[in-house]
Amino acid sequence: MLNLVLFGPPGAGKGTQATRISEKYQLIHLSTGDILREEIAAETELGVEAKKNMDRGELVPDLVVINMIATKIDENKNANGFIFDGFPRSTAQAEALDTILVERGVSIAAMLALEVDNEHLMQRLLRRGRKSGRPDDQNPAIIGNRISIYNKTTAPVIDFYASQNKYLPVNGIGTIEEIFDRLCTSIDVVK
Ligand code: AMP
Repeated sequence: MLNLVLFGPPGAGKGTQATRISEKYQLIHLSTGDILREEIAAETELGVEAKKNMDRGELVPDLVVINMIATKIDENKNANGFIFDGFPRSTAQAEALDTILVERGVSIAAMLALEVDNEHLMQRLLRRGRKSGRPDDQNPAIIGNRISIYNKTTAPVIDFYASQNKYLPVNGIGTIEEIFDRLCTSIDVVK
């Protein structure tokens, strides 16, 4: 089983790259953001609650996303592996993911961390907001809040994986193809 974390700030290109990686390596793509947006579209209780956090650019509570991920892992028992996109976003989530995987006799092979500077992130998110209509991508103040929460709460997850020698930084600036090639080079070393 090959389990990878695709990490990076909002707008780093995680979704695009995780889709390609999942196809090439036959992995299940688990994006907590996508699952939450499905819950919102289906107007579930979870979705209605999560939307309040998401619209403000805040994180959804750890327990909510941890339970979502555990359920998805158990729904895909025969998978070749998983690529986690947008999860874990806090050290508590990273610890919980380790526990979930250990209980099932597997582990994370690597954290691939896309590195993109703040100026590129803001431009990419506003462009995505114009195209997709995602409400949290349209307001520079909300985007700023997401980037600052990333720096405060999410960036420390790097230390968690670095201490396990699983942190692999990847330059996230360039064409989709160039970035994909860099990611595959790193994956081919750990797979
Ligand atoms: P994303 O599509 O990954 O940019 O996620 C969109 C929004 O969903 C985030 O700004 C958070 O409000 C919420 N979200 C997604 N993943 C997580 C997570 N792992 N932990 C907490 N909140 C999350």
